[in-house]
Amino acid sequence: MNAQSDKEEVVKKKIKTPQSLRGFKDVVPEHEAYWNAVEDAARNVATDYSFGRIRLPILEPTTLFERSVGKATDIVEKEMYTFKDPSEARVTMRPEATASVARAYIEHGMLNKPQPVKMWYFGQMFRHDRPQAGRYRQFHQFGLEAIGSADPILDAQMIIMAHRMLQGLGVKSKFLINSIGTEDSRREYIMELVSYFKQFRKKLSDVDKKRLTKNPLRLLDSKEEGMAELKADAPQILDWLDEDSKQHFMTVIEYLDEAEVPYELDPFLVRGLDYYTRTVFEIVQVDDEGVKSQNALGGGGRYDTLIEQLGGREDTHAIGLAMGVERIIRAMKNQGVVLPKDREIDVFFCQLGDAARRKGLVVFEEFRTAGVKIAEAFGKGSLKTQLEMADKRKSKIALILGQKEVLDGTIIIRDMESGGQEIVNMDKVVDLVQKQLGGK
Ligand code: AMP
Repeated sequence: MNAQSDKEEVVKKKIKTPQSLRGFKDVVPEHEAYWNAVEDAARNVATDYSFGRIRLPILEPTTLFERSVGKATDIVEKEMYTFKDPSEARVTMRPEATASVARAYIEHGMLNKPQPVKMWYFGQMFRHDRPQAGRYRQFHQFGLEAIGSADPILDAQMIIMAHRMLQGLGVKSKFLINSIGTEDSRREYIMELVSYFKQFRKKLSDVDKKRLTKNPLRLLDSKEEGMAELKADAPQILDWLDEDSKQHFMTVIEYLDEAEVPYELDPFLVRGLDYYTRTVFEIVQVDDEGVKSQNALGGGGRYDTLIEQLGGREDTHAIGLAMGVERIIRAMKNQGVVLPKDREIDVFFCQLGDAARRKGLVVFEEFRTAGVKIAEAFGKGSLKTQLEMADKRKSKIALILGQKEVLDGTIIIRDMESGGQEIVNMDKVVDLVQKQLGGK
């Protein structure tokens, strides 16, 4: 090695390869089958229940989340990607989508449509949380929102939709459900909760001490040490519900019983966002014995005052649900759901030599346009390799085009099962193959 190449070697080593940001993941083609399965399931269930798709911007004014999710929540306090754009506007990469859907409902005057307006979304969300298994800084949610009705059947319907969708994907799930009442009934309960936890102030962690003054409901889903015992004797919100909320909750439960959706009443479930009222729920994966796993697959609840809070019409009641796509895919893999990596094909095109490859570009396109499921390997030269690929992908037919066939205007059809081959006229090959496939 001479001095020059020595130097080049050193320079090369110094070049840092770019890396994706922490908590931001690529979805490489090998995983695409899982994403397609979840996207298809989401689209199908939403369409079946007459939800219309809404595509929302990723960037929103920061105030939208401050006014909806709430200033004292973890999301707004410390997890948002907020910055000033070049025109000095404070903007945020959406950490969730319910606020945006509510904004869109008001902005597009959807209150003039037949109510409830039912919408679904699928897309990226951004939260600057500490990444760990199943928790990313960019993740995807599939969500459903029904705005403009207080009917408890919608609460139940949404839960049933999520349950059926997960069932279809091979994921066993269970719902944790609670009611946190209206703002008024909650106010009294919160006073009671604060006075209960104040007795144990010394035992609380710093985080929980802060919650006690800023967001006492969050004490109920605190996972800090020693809290489980303290919580066990804490006043329960269900005992403080107003009559209407109680009735609403009972009706939701009856509908779930009717539909045989597995659920568990969880008096400590409050969810971390300010806008929730009445029904709140979380979806967790369960194993064959019904044991819950840690990470939630999704969650949701009613937000009966959010529309009004954002300047929309009073008493526009609503309910929504969001599911974590990465978490669903993880659950599918945990549950042993295996999806084929490659799409199924019927025909594999093999070529030998330059002229065949050139002609192959046209032949391949003719098959594709005719709607035949065909694959190729133009990058490969050997016939043996190409036939092996056809075999691996379980193709029914292989087409073989060599130098001689190009000159004669013919092509070989090979039946992959029997190994039998037939030379046919190139002009007729699409028809013949379609007949052969249709006839099988
Ligand atoms: P949330 O509204 O925060 O309960 O989010 C609803 C669902 O989105 C959760 O149940 C998770 O499945 C998913 N999710 C929330 N945050 C993350 C995250 N940081 N990474 C991956 N999935 C998440």
